[in-house]
Amino acid sequence: MKKTTSKKQAGLQYTIVPKDLAAHLFNVTVTVAAPSAEGQVFALPAWIPGSYMIREFARNIVRIRAESGGEAVALTKLDKHSWQAAPVAGPLSLHYEVYAWDLSVRAAHLDQTHGFFNGTSVFLRVLGQEHMPHQVDIQRPSDPAASDWRVATSLPELGAKRYGFGTYIAGDYDELIDHPVEMADFALGSFKAHGVQHDIVITGRVPNLDMARLQQDLKAICETQIAFFEPKTRKAPMDRYVFLTMAVGDGYGGLEHRASTALICARADLPTTAAPKTAEPNEGYTKFLGLCSHEYFHTWNVKRIKPAVFAPYDLQVENYTPLLWLFEGFTSYYDDLMLVRSGIISEATYLKLLGKTVGSVLRGSGRTKQSVAESSFDAWSKYYRQDENAPNAIISYYTKGSLVGLAFDLTIRAKTGGAKSLDDVMRALWERYGRDFYAKDGSGARGVTERDVEALFEEVSGVRLKSIFERYIRGTEDIPLAKLYAPFGIKLTDERKNGKPSLDAGIGRDNGGAKLTQVHEGGAAHQAGLSSGDILVAVDGLRVNGNPCNLDQLFARYRVGDTVTVHAFRRDELMTFEVTLQGDRVPGILLSAMPGGRKAQGLVRPSAS
Ligand SMILES: [Zn+2]
Repeated sequence: MKKTTSKKQAGLQYTIVPKDLAAHLFNVTVTVAAPSAEGQVFALPAWIPGSYMIREFARNIVRIRAESGGEAVALTKLDKHSWQAAPVAGPLSLHYEVYAWDLSVRAAHLDQTHGFFNGTSVFLRVLGQEHMPHQVDIQRPSDPAASDWRVATSLPELGAKRYGFGTYIAGDYDELIDHPVEMADFALGSFKAHGVQHDIVITGRVPNLDMARLQQDLKAICETQIAFFEPKTRKAPMDRYVFLTMAVGDGYGGLEHRASTALICARADLPTTAAPKTAEPNEGYTKFLGLCSHEYFHTWNVKRIKPAVFAPYDLQVENYTPLLWLFEGFTSYYDDLMLVRSGIISEATYLKLLGKTVGSVLRGSGRTKQSVAESSFDAWSKYYRQDENAPNAIISYYTKGSLVGLAFDLTIRAKTGGAKSLDDVMRALWERYGRDFYAKDGSGARGVTERDVEALFEEVSGVRLKSIFERYIRGTEDIPLAKLYAPFGIKLTDERKNGKPSLDAGIGRDNGGAKLTQVHEGGAAHQAGLSSGDILVAVDGLRVNGNPCNLDQLFARYRVGDTVTVHAFRRDELMTFEVTLQGDRVPGILLSAMPGGRKAQGLVRPSAS
């Protein structure tokens, strides 16, 4: 069949081929049937939605050239992300190489073991034609190392067979960059959740992977979440979903997309058929399931219910929102909660995880200086670019945001006698802003503002919630969890005062001694004058080893309140400090159901309505 040249049907054609696995290079071509008469402009995003930091992906474009009908076309670089081709009648093709050597969920990676990319790293945007269909031909590399590779992506197939190389299609540019692609000889598992196909793709060597257990547990989590947002219809918001997982020796992270997630995890956190089956997952596997649960919850909360400034995204600059406490914090609140609700972990384990979060929020003095609204707004320059002073300067909109979610939940449940909960607020956000976000006619594509959120929370719950917004979201007050929990028979115990003697500082591995990575404001190290970067070499004349660190062993012969002499190098100068040891703030906070606290049992369950 002859190719049509009609602008509407042709759309934009991309080809991507892993060209040189050892040099980590993808070859990409984009062909524009009808380029702009003034000279077509192309740009690569400066950031990837979900990871709020300017990353300047275009710096990985190694070579780029334009041509039309076999003739070279002049290309002018406009700024660090953009190029303009000289005017041509068309079709116009751009050929470029992308260096892919970032093993994270945010960018692109290519070697003999696999290829992975996000569209934001490899597909130049054709300005003015973002709303056209975008076709992508994903080609098999010629390298024999890739002869068994398959393709995993939630991008709809056009000519390609499922899991095959070939042509895929996106309705527009926004969709094109929201379906990451993995190519490898990966392990594949599948299950249906309320009728929708879900794939689990695991790349990396994982001996005796227990895929059956993964399928069973993820199915439970996904079905619980689908039923959470759509209790009547149990309709998932996507036609298919893919968990793209890279298993490595040590790693942790995930990035959400509209019909998939890219994950990186430690091999040891994945279940194995070689170990005896336990009813409750171990700590590492619980962490992995929590990550899956978190990214899956984002399918509703941030991929469809969005802050107004993300609808649409401006991919070249920072998009400021004060609402990440809702989109990341509440997603963090619900990720572990969904593990209990789907029967995977016990309520006791859930309270243990929550206690850890409470402890980590209370640990840094940054919580008294930055609100979660400010932390959200400044994510680009602060949360995502943390330095050694972070605990003293900022608060995490993830951890404190999740406690804000808990505060709303407990308050609404208490004031409505259990008739309503935060669940009702999330469902109202979904019905009004999320459900129709990707409706074909574009009518639903609007996001929420801070003002919308505040009005909706009160309207749906019927409870006055202004003080939570004022004190714990826009203000920096500690959330009075002990008080909020009391009516539910849950006790909060602060164990920080009974800790072992310590410096109250972060300690890193260093062959020269124990290296301070963070010095907590008001802590023993700070009061003695020690700084981040100092390398401790002796305590009361006894040698400090840095790798492995023996400080705990040395301090075990002292009591909290004792003063010791510490020798440390700052740069290459030896200095002496008198340190009065403080109690270690770990383990922190314990949450426990009070004896006979029957009310506690209902707390993790959906509210009565
Ligand atoms: Zn998240």
